[in-house]
Amino acid sequence: MSLATQRAGWSHLPLRAAAFVALTCAAILGVSGWREWAARDAVLRGAETEMANVARSLAQHAEDSLDLLDSSVVGVVSRLEMDGTSPATITKLSNVLEARRKAFPRIHSFAIVDDRGNWLTSPGTIAATFSDDGFFRHHQLSAKREPLVGRPVKSLLEGEWVVTLSRRFNKPDGSFGGVVLATISSNYLAHFYEQFEIGRNSSAALVHGDGLIIARNPGNDKFVGRSVADTALFRDASLQRPSGVYHFKSPLDGAERLSFFNRSGRYPLVLVATLDKEELLAPWRAAAISRMLYVAALVTLIAVIGAVLVRQLQRGQRMAAALVEKEAHFRLLAEGSSDMVTRIGLDERLRYVSPSSVRVVGWRASQLIGTPALAGINPEDLPEVQAIVDAMKRGEREEARLTYRNSHRLNGEVWLESTMRVTRKDNGRADGVVAISRDITEHKKLETRLETLAIEDSLTGLANRRRFDERLKEEWARAYRDRSSLALLMIDVDHFKAYNDEYGHPAGDACLRLVAKIIAAETQRAGDLAARYGGEEFAMLLPNTDAAGCALIGERIRKAIHEAGLVHGSNLTSGCVTASVGGATCRPALERTAGVSSLVEAADRALYAAKDAGRNRLMMSGELMDLLPKASGQ
Ligand code: GH3
Ligand code: MG
Ligand code: MG
Repeated sequence: MSLATQRAGWSHLPLRAAAFVALTCAAILGVSGWREWAARDAVLRGAETEMANVARSLAQHAEDSLDLLDSSVVGVVSRLEMDGTSPATITKLSNVLEARRKAFPRIHSFAIVDDRGNWLTSPGTIAATFSDDGFFRHHQLSAKREPLVGRPVKSLLEGEWVVTLSRRFNKPDGSFGGVVLATISSNYLAHFYEQFEIGRNSSAALVHGDGLIIARNPGNDKFVGRSVADTALFRDASLQRPSGVYHFKSPLDGAERLSFFNRSGRYPLVLVATLDKEELLAPWRAAAISRMLYVAALVTLIAVIGAVLVRQLQRGQRMAAALVEKEAHFRLLAEGSSDMVTRIGLDERLRYVSPSSVRVVGWRASQLIGTPALAGINPEDLPEVQAIVDAMKRGEREEARLTYRNSHRLNGEVWLESTMRVTRKDNGRADGVVAISRDITEHKKLETRLETLAIEDSLTGLANRRRFDERLKEEWARAYRDRSSLALLMIDVDHFKAYNDEYGHPAGDACLRLVAKIIAAETQRAGDLAARYGGEEFAMLLPNTDAAGCALIGERIRKAIHEAGLVHGSNLTSGCVTASVGGATCRPALERTAGVSSLVEAADRALYAAKDAGRNRLMMSGELMDLLPKASGQ
């Protein structure tokens, strides 16, 4: 995977996380919804099965009841056809039928009707004459011997609804002899249906093949005799099968209902069990709503937590991006810089080294990382650097700038200037030091050179006048503090003007260099300072030296110059280069004459005395004092 693709993937992460959370929520809602729908389906299917069984049982019950009626009717028909309709036969049959009616509560009544529709048995409750009734005319006109289940009728006397089952009987000549009729009460059937608990808004009804309701529970009195011939059950071609289920919306109350029907195979009867869908699904709905509320709460929780996490992810990413940018800037600066940038841990080992280390100390960054940061420092400079680093680690110093010598892999030793700064963690605790180091060797050399130039005489290499004056002051102060003595020699080449004139200025310079060398050779103690005081005049500062010591060195210098034997024709007394020397000593702490100049003046005076005395000699300031009274005494 390329870096760009990786970065793009990284930047899309919050979006993907948000999508994942949304998808999870949607999936949970979807699965829960689907489960609830499946549960609803299961409830409906269970009810369908149950109601189909109820419908089948009740249809069976209706068939059985009619079979019972028919078995009696068939017996009476055969009896009448054999024995005729004599009053004696009728009475006998009436008795049998009455006994049977009493034995079976579902049998409402029996009747035997002659070929004109008049009662042969004692007039019953249904009607005075049957001549106009449908079943009578049917049997009168049709020679068929099958039983006929008639439409429900209301008995005239009791006002009770009954269903008739009738058969025709023939006279011995085969002509229509009359009808034997049995009835079953609508109320009986309705009561029977009551035993089945099918719900408050549900019903079970037995309907005649032509659409009239025979019995119904509940509300039998209200519904019996009503026609449902215009309902789907009778009109829909798809429902004209032995049994089935169909859904419909009640035209009365607009409620959704489910009907299960079972048609009798033998009789024109349909049993219809109807369920109120709302009522059926109510328990499921209540449970589903509470379950879905839990699911909704869970999904809300997931969504909220997801949103919080996505926000944190976004924030983390922004911070990481800022960090990467910061890191890039740091690298750009550190690695683009000609200075060596290093990061030092609290264990004083190098954690990061920029590539310019190769130039600065001769080692590659990879060779340095992990090594002790102060390892290359010159042992003389190390204590100072170590002390500063320790102070920074302790939090006593925030930053420091120091110069020190450090070993270089190829060039021996280099001077480094380092700017150091403490780095801190987010909690404010110091976790290391960042150092920016540059090679200042050239700069140091130049500085040393300038320093030398400032204090050195270019012709002779001795200290110059400036340096001499400085040192004189310093030594004077020291001698004052230490109550020690300070000595000064002034040395002046004799007849040097003449030397220049005779041998030329360059030769004069060479002569001065030689004299300087001779004088420098006499500086034996570290504190001694030989300087060019001006022109062909030199000075030698001798700290902690008394007059005797001063005279000793002065004499040695004078002698050495003389013995160098540099030819000087114009110096008639010796024929070679000589010098006169004046010496003076003092104890600044004891002398009343305060000030540096008094010593110089004293030495100068001694020098001039030496000149006066014939040159190429040493004269001490003390001798001068001794001379003066003598001179004044002469
Ligand atoms: P005396 O014995 O009394 O000291 O006589 P002198 O000639 O040495 O003294 P004077 O002060 O008259 O002359 C000093 C001369 O030194 C004058 C000057 O040309 C010469 N001189 C001073 N500085 C230099 C120098 O740097 N190089 C050369 N070649 N000559 C110098
Ligand atoms: Mg001179
Ligand atoms: Mg001079």
